[in-house]
Amino acid sequence: QKRPVKLTGKPELIREFLARFDVFLFDCDGVLWQGDKLLPKVVETLDVLRNRGKQIVFVTNNSTKSREDYKKKLAKLGIQAEIDEIFGSAYSAAIYISRVLCLPPTERVYILGEAGIEAELRSENITFLGGTDPADSGPMTPSDYETFGPDPTVTVVLCGLDRNICYKKLARAYQFLQNPNCRFLATNIDSTFPTHGKLFPGAGSMSAPLTYMLGGRQPVSLGKPSQAMMAAIEGKFRFDKSRTCMVGDRLNTDITFGIEGGLGGTLAVLTGVNKEDDFLKEGAEVVPDAYLEMLGDLAY
Ligand code: PLP
Ligand code: CA
Repeated sequence: QKRPVKLTGKPELIREFLARFDVFLFDCDGVLWQGDKLLPKVVETLDVLRNRGKQIVFVTNNSTKSREDYKKKLAKLGIQAEIDEIFGSAYSAAIYISRVLCLPPTERVYILGEAGIEAELRSENITFLGGTDPADSGPMTPSDYETFGPDPTVTVVLCGLDRNICYKKLARAYQFLQNPNCRFLATNIDSTFPTHGKLFPGAGSMSAPLTYMLGGRQPVSLGKPSQAMMAAIEGKFRFDKSRTCMVGDRLNTDITFGIEGGLGGTLAVLTGVNKEDDFLKEGAEVVPDAYLEMLGDLAY
């Protein structure tokens, strides 16, 4: 079994590790911040990397925010970032729909999700329905049973986190998916996400009822660890994977994403979901190349 290297407190090893990479893909929650609290020395660490000419991309599975929202969140916490350095799962889905599926302008996307997804689809000139439209909330009406059904113009159903999810939205999405030409996508399939020291239902729990209705059909995920997200990132930034490192707190999303994507390295931090024992224990399935107690340890 591979043994990850602990870099905390070892300047020599940190220097060697950093020299192997030109690009760092950063998970956000659990690495840079916890909820609304910036973790120690994050700004200093990002400065160290930038001053050494490293390219930084923030890669998050959170589909509720657009890149614009993320830029604001980063700025509020004191992290300067360009829109082009941010890659969220809502944007990933938009890029996939416009550049991989090449959706013609006559076809539409049904969104089971929030405003961040709408903003990113708009940025790629994709026509959509559903989302935050109030017409899709509330109880089913007698006429809904009459009018809901497949629509040849709706050829994608996209699910992200939707904190206003209801029967009506699921029923509508299910009807659209009766069309055999309608694709089933998810921004990400995280079952839960951590906030306020607890776990809450994640985006994967929005698409899961549809999977059940559809007899087991799974959505294509555009978030970590899906390599569809790696393809979307690569479609946007040309980078040498062998000189790229994925930094994250979660083994089954971030670290798996880096390993399956064939990146040059993976770096875990212990400020989020997984702890040291999860990858040091006998038979651990996902093992990073190196780890830190916290990201700020890089700015020794
Ligand atoms: N999904 C939602 C809705 C979240 O709020 C979060 C974290 O805040 C995540 C996913 C996980 O995001 P990340 O990939 O940045 O850890
Ligand atoms: Ca995370």
